[in-house]
Amino acid sequence: MDLQLKGKRALITGGSVGIGLAVAEALAAEGVNLILCARNLSRLEEESRKIATKFQVEVDCFQVDVSQQDQLEHFIQKITQNYQSLDILINNAGQGTNEKIESAPDDRWYYYWDLHVMAAVRLSRGLLPLLKINGGVILNNSSICAVQPLGYEPIYNTTKAALSMFSKCLANEYISYGIRVNTVNPGLIITPDWRKTAKDLGEKEGISADEYLDRLAKDYTPIGRFGTPEELANFFVFLCSPMASYSVGSTYYIDGGWLNVVK
Ligand code: NDP
Repeated sequence: MDLQLKGKRALITGGSVGIGLAVAEALAAEGVNLILCARNLSRLEEESRKIATKFQVEVDCFQVDVSQQDQLEHFIQKITQNYQSLDILINNAGQGTNEKIESAPDDRWYYYWDLHVMAAVRLSRGLLPLLKINGGVILNNSSICAVQPLGYEPIYNTTKAALSMFSKCLANEYISYGIRVNTVNPGLIITPDWRKTAKDLGEKEGISADEYLDRLAKDYTPIGRFGTPEELANFFVFLCSPMASYSVGSTYYIDGGWLNVVK
């Protein structure tokens, strides 16, 4: 299938590792030029160079903390000045949390609200002039936790639920500009961060990281294993393509069957 993506330009937040990096590579493999951002500049620059060399596409990278309004506004200004149009925006940057509601202070809530919700609001709003030039695609990387909460991360569950609702409202509004907005809700996707967590928690129980991950996946998912970032990235790429032209305002679960209801 020709996905008709060659020569398009995509901006991916958190494109330096994990899911964002896999999506960046998968889009680059289709000939998409990239704008990547993250906080750790050296890692971002290294991955950007590798992608540009391997796939012969343009990859520009910017050090931005997307949870910080001033940095994001500055970033949006630079993008608007430097690029004539943008075809794809992927709001991916995010992070799990670990807290009890009774003891989590307000600033913790506000940080994740800014990271998971306001970054997507600000980028979708600020980049609209560029996105509507050719008609574009916005994908919001939420989580299965938006509808099926994990007990240890109420702030993550709540802010991801808000991102999903924002995404639906955005889809309704922006389709009049020819911009398709959808949400992806991943389940367990193996990333370096998961491996580190599994090593730490496994050690406490006297089991290896692999044993810890394997048990977790078998407990949670009918498929009995973690997904790879690449398996998920394929799905993102398809949703970015004009071949998904009738897909608007939907939420797609890529979770090995973990979602426990019919939706
Ligand atoms: P990783 O921790 O592997 O990668 C996160 C990426 O986001 C990195 O590039 C990181 O770079 C960047 N990032 C984090 N915080 C910020 C910030 N404040 N400003 C700019 N960039 C930032 O995470 P995953 O790949 O696992 O997760 C990606 C998304 O997928 C997240 O939104 C997550 O909630 C979601 N998700 C992940 C699942 C999983 O199982 N892995 C399951 C469901 C959803 P840097 O640190 O340099 O800023």
